[in-house]
Amino acid sequence: MTDEQIVYLNGEFMPLAEARVPVLDRGFIFGDGVYEVAPVYGRVPFRWTQHHARLVRNLGKLRIDDPMDAAGWRGLVDALVARHPWDDQFVYVQVTRGVAKRDHAFPKGVRPTVFAMSSPLPPIPAEQIELGVATITLPDERWLHCDIKSISLLGNVLARQAAVDAGAAECVMFRDGWLTEGSSSNVWVVRDGRVLAPPRDNLILEGIRYGLLEALCAAEGVPFEVRPIARDEVTSADELMLSSATKEVLPITRLDGRPVGAGVPGPVYRRLHAAYQRAKAASTAEAAGRAAR
Ligand code: PMP
Repeated sequence: MTDEQIVYLNGEFMPLAEARVPVLDRGFIFGDGVYEVAPVYGRVPFRWTQHHARLVRNLGKLRIDDPMDAAGWRGLVDALVARHPWDDQFVYVQVTRGVAKRDHAFPKGVRPTVFAMSSPLPPIPAEQIELGVATITLPDERWLHCDIKSISLLGNVLARQAAVDAGAAECVMFRDGWLTEGSSSNVWVVRDGRVLAPPRDNLILEGIRYGLLEALCAAEGVPFEVRPIARDEVTSADELMLSSATKEVLPITRLDGRPVGAGVPGPVYRRLHAAYQRAKAASTAEAAGRAAR
């Protein structure tokens, strides 16, 4: 967040400090809304098509009218990026059901509240890439619609704080003994040279990096297996990784204070990290090529 940040609220661009929503906004009252976070590299939104598709899907799941068509969303993101000086940014978009007298059931004839901002994308510390991050295990105490990228994030907030309190960067959560995900990231297990991925069901958010890692594994010839993953397969993994829009893919080298595998980033992580960097470069180069044509 910076002083010069310009944000978008309900059709208008304004300085962040001037953006206001009424207290009866259902986002404030009920957490009734969805959001997206998309990285921007070299001023080009990365995998925006997929982020947009997920936003549309989530709005549909909550029966909130999509306030814009695909071109409108893309135009909004491009306009926000253009208003800021940073080459690498991350765009945050939030849509709530709108402002209405407080009542749980959906109000009729209410316009969704649309908010969007873009911030400088913090570079990933070299130490995290070279040494990995520490995590703790936690029971997944969230609701049963974790596939919805809901702004109601209390379960995720409490899980992340438990990790921070334990001196860790992220948590690795289990529901009934099966791996789900982190508080704000997907978690990947490497065993015998294969990447294991928890099923894309209602118990995890399917990150935009889910499909990306699957594609990178295919391109790299790394087997990618989607199936329920038991706790002991995680605690005895050769490698663990996490992924998110702002963290890309990171090695998890400590779990509950114990080393993961050899305790250093492993060979599968290194290959996927390199492939990820190439995918970023290709996205920027492709956009530059399009602009030159
Ligand atoms: N799971 C949760 C709970 C998240 O908050 C995130 C981050 N948005 C992810 C997974 C990773 O998703 P993405 O790759 O789209 O950032």
